[in-house]
Amino acid sequence: MTDIFETLESEVRGYSRSWPAVFTHASGAIQTAEDGTEYIDFFSGAGALNYGHNNPALTAPLMEYLASGAVVHSLDMMTPAKREFLETFQELILKPRNLDYKVMFPGPTGTNTVEAALKLARKVTGRQNIISFTNAFHGMTLGSLSVTGNAMKRQGAGVPLGNTSKMPYDNYLEGAGSDLAFLERSLEDTSSGIDKPAAVIVETVQGEGGLRAARAEWLRNLAALLKRHDVLLIVDDVQAGCGRTGTFFSFEEAGIEPDIVCVSKSISGYGLPMALTLFRRELDVWGAGEHNGTFRGHNPAFVTATAALKKYWATDDFQNELAGTIAALHRGLAEIAGLVDGAEIRGRGMLAGVVFPDQATASNVAAEAFAHGVLVETSGSEDEVLKVMPPLTITDDVLQRGLAIITEAVRTVAGKPALAAV
Ligand code: PMP
Repeated sequence: MTDIFETLESEVRGYSRSWPAVFTHASGAIQTAEDGTEYIDFFSGAGALNYGHNNPALTAPLMEYLASGAVVHSLDMMTPAKREFLETFQELILKPRNLDYKVMFPGPTGTNTVEAALKLARKVTGRQNIISFTNAFHGMTLGSLSVTGNAMKRQGAGVPLGNTSKMPYDNYLEGAGSDLAFLERSLEDTSSGIDKPAAVIVETVQGEGGLRAARAEWLRNLAALLKRHDVLLIVDDVQAGCGRTGTFFSFEEAGIEPDIVCVSKSISGYGLPMALTLFRRELDVWGAGEHNGTFRGHNPAFVTATAALKKYWATDDFQNELAGTIAALHRGLAEIAGLVDGAEIRGRGMLAGVVFPDQATASNVAAEAFAHGVLVETSGSEDEVLKVMPPLTITDDVLQRGLAIITEAVRTVAGKPALAAV
């Protein structure tokens, strides 16, 4: 019974076409459809479900909060739930990392935090231009689209997307030339034609743009270059943050300290809409209410966010365990890549996948995997990368089952004979 989705819901729907099942229940890394079919979730709500579906450690405080009659909606008013979130975020995330950020609640989505970051950078510096990178994805509203690379998404804007310049991301030129040389020269040369930017916005791993991962050294060089030129560095950690790459923030490995950080997706931990824009204290030049929005203080999301931080980030245990899960995922990906000549692993941590030389392979593998009970999507401008993105809390058993199904799907799609059952 899917008629109503086809007749009433807009043609803009996407995932429901790739995965034509009606999902009823979910638990951890398993999602169940109306007909009883169970799917292994290697998609994790596009990064919004890093701790899995309906995580009981988060469900319990959420249910308790809702049953208690506590305030649910409060714009940016003060509530105990918001106080506890801010205190916990400061204690467990900011302080141990020596980050002296102010916390802003923009609207609850990824594109909301990106818009807030761009607006703040322009306000602080008085400059208009923002530099972003090839293959970047930052969201679908006009400001975010203007710093996004993908032509199909950009043309949807219907108006010119201005006041931005594009630069090559790490290894865009595949080894030819130094990747920051053009940016460096452009910032130095007053005749480069590139207006001095307010900020550069970067993803440490390009979640939608083909899972390219910037090297730590490239990120360090970028941060140092921007500091020399008094240009702000915005890291869009909407998809790569909240543990996805193995640390809470994806830029920790590089040891850089961005001026502004965009966080959303898994910050609530439960799939509830929530976003943060973090910035150096000195950058907090907002006037009261200058950037507002109705849904900026969703208390149920504060409750689950606090519970998630306390459960997973109070000690190093989760991060240490996660390192093992990442290693297991990458072993599986290496085996999958080994099945096809020229295939390679892309990405970093649990934001990783395999790029195939034939552009159609990844989509075909994803369709075949769905037919055998795995939700896995593609990434890249031509959907050429199979993006394997399980919850960070997945058990090894379920991870291996899912990887085995993908391996079989690759054999089928790439025309390799299936292994005889042993
Ligand atoms: N930035 C990045 C890096 C993203 O991956 C996404 C979503 N895929 C966004 C921003 C936009 O987030 P949202 O869809 O919640 O607006």
